[in-house]
Amino acid sequence: MTTIAQRLAAVRDRINTAAQAGRRPADPILLVAVSKTQPVTAIEEAIAAGQTAFGESYIQEALPKIAALSAYSLIWHFIGPIQSNKTADIAAQFAWVHSVERLKIAQRLNDQRPAHLPALNVCIQVNISREDSKSGIAPTEVLALAHAITRLPRLRLRGLMTVPKPDADPVQQREPFRLLHQLLMQMNTQGLSLDTLSMGMSDDLEAAIREGATIIRIGTAIFGQRT
Ligand SMILES: *Cc1c(COP(=O)(O)O)cnc(C)c1O
Repeated sequence: MTTIAQRLAAVRDRINTAAQAGRRPADPILLVAVSKTQPVTAIEEAIAAGQTAFGESYIQEALPKIAALSAYSLIWHFIGPIQSNKTADIAAQFAWVHSVERLKIAQRLNDQRPAHLPALNVCIQVNISREDSKSGIAPTEVLALAHAITRLPRLRLRGLMTVPKPDADPVQQREPFRLLHQLLMQMNTQGLSLDTLSMGMSDDLEAAIREGATIIRIGTAIFGQRT
């Protein structure tokens, strides 16, 4: 049986190999372990193996786990769809939110971010390739939302996030990531200073790293198949 520690080590190897192939350093690539549906005991195994950044998609599921693990110093990333009645908990419990796609949600996260905490790091989720998906905003609408978010003092806009349409071909996988990187660079010529590309999951992390990912979000390859 493969342990979580062994799977984590294998993922770190994949990160290093992909970074080397792309002639970029692996250190600045942040590995977020996506622990949605996983029990606290599995997260503790990952912590014992040195993991500190974790991603969750469902707030009701995340809150008790965050409370149970409060003795550790962990960095929690919210990566799921955001309903407006859940923004207060997200603003209070997470350090990062990757899935902002509406100004109304950004405004609420800003207003509800507790004063004793630093500004909340946010990424805008972009629908870069999956025409059929309801998640993420159109690339043409990203710049306006980004400028509006930069006016919110309790948020720190860091960059862009995407979940592309699954594609088994490692060459094809790179295209949406290349487009997201291009979009980020365009935005940085328009007065923004974004440093984060949150892209790459268990099946396409190599492609994402080759196209400049700075955060990869990995669930299955660390914790095994979700039930
Ligand atoms: C579940 C999820 C992941 C992790 O996916 P795996 O394929 O299990 O690595 C990453 N990002 C988001 C937004 C997710 O919902």
